[in-house]
Amino acid sequence: MPAILLDGKACSKELEAELTTRVARLNLKAPPVLATILVGDDPASATYVRLKGNACRRVGMESLSITLPGTTSTEQLLTAIDDLNANPRVRGILLQHPVPKQIDERAAFDRIALDKDVDGVTAHGFGRMAMDEPAYGSATPAGIMRLLRRYEIPIEGREAVVVGRSPILGRPMAMMLLAANATVTICHSRTKNLPEVVHRAEIVIGAVGKPEFIRGDWIRDGAVVVDAGYHPGGVGDIELSAVIDRCSAWTPVPGGVGPMTIATLIAHTVEAAERQAA
Ligand code: NAP
Repeated sequence: MPAILLDGKACSKELEAELTTRVARLNLKAPPVLATILVGDDPASATYVRLKGNACRRVGMESLSITLPGTTSTEQLLTAIDDLNANPRVRGILLQHPVPKQIDERAAFDRIALDKDVDGVTAHGFGRMAMDEPAYGSATPAGIMRLLRRYEIPIEGREAVVVGRSPILGRPMAMMLLAANATVTICHSRTKNLPEVVHRAEIVIGAVGKPEFIRGDWIRDGAVVVDAGYHPGGVGDIELSAVIDRCSAWTPVPGGVGPMTIATLIAHTVEAAERQAA
C-alpha cells in the first residue's frame, strides 16, 4: 500500500474554513486579536510571525504585532507582556521563540496569562496539559496530533519515539502521545544508540533542529514518520527521501507540520475567544 501523505497544507485549510465560520458566529463588535511578540531581528522568526498574522486575517481575526529591539531586557519584555495580559481585546499571546540570550525566556513565557497562553508555553499550561486537564497545548505538537487524527493514524498501544525534548516541541509532544496511549520514548543529545532506539519506533517524531539528522536507514519499514524540522533547502530533521517508499505515512517538508502549527495556534485563539464570549 502506498504511504499516506499527511498533508498539513490541506488539513490546515480545512481547519481555517471551520475557524472562519466560528469567528463569524462570535459576532463580536471588534474581531478577536492574537498578539505576537518578536524580539530582535531574526529573519526566520520574522517570517513565522508574519505568517501567523496573515492566517489571523484569513479567518477574520486581527493580529497585533509587537516588535522589540534585540537589546530588550527581561523586565522590558515582561512589561510588554503585562500590557497584553491587561488588554481585553487580546485573546491570545504568542512570544516567538527563541528570544535573545540576555532574556530569561522561561520568566517571559510564564508571565503570559494562562487564559491567553494559546501556544502552551507557560509551565502552568504545560503541567495542566501533561495532567490531561484543559489547557492549550503547545501549537506544534498539538498540530501534529490534529494531523495524525485527521488521517486516522492509530496511536494507542504503539511505540512512539520523539527525538528532541525542547519545552515547545519534544516534551509536550511526548506528553500528548502518552495521553493518546502510545508507549513513548524521548531521545535527546545524551541518548545512547539513537539509531537503535529510533528503529523501534512505529511512530517517529523528528524534532532535533539539524538537517536530515535522523537517517532513513534508522527507521523501520511501515513506520509513521513526522518531521517537525525545516531548514534552508526545504529539508527537515529526517532524511525523508530515504523512507517515503517504505513507511506507512509521512509529513512533507514543507507543507506538513509547519501549516498545522499556524492553524492550531489560530484555533486555540478562536477557542479562547469563544470561552470569553460564553
Ligand atoms: P531545540 O530547542 O534546539 O531542541 C532540539 C532538541 O534536539 C534538544 O532536546 C536536543 O537535546 C536534541 N538534540 C540535539 N542534538 C541531538 C543529537 N545529536 N541527538 C539527539 N538529540 C539531539 O529545537 P526545537 O525548538 O524543539 O525545534 C526542533 C526542530 O523543529 C527544528 O528543526 C525547528 O526548526 C523545528 N520547529 C518547527 C516548528 C514548526 O512550526 N514547523 C516549530 C518549532 C520548531 P538536548 O535537550 O539534550 O540538548
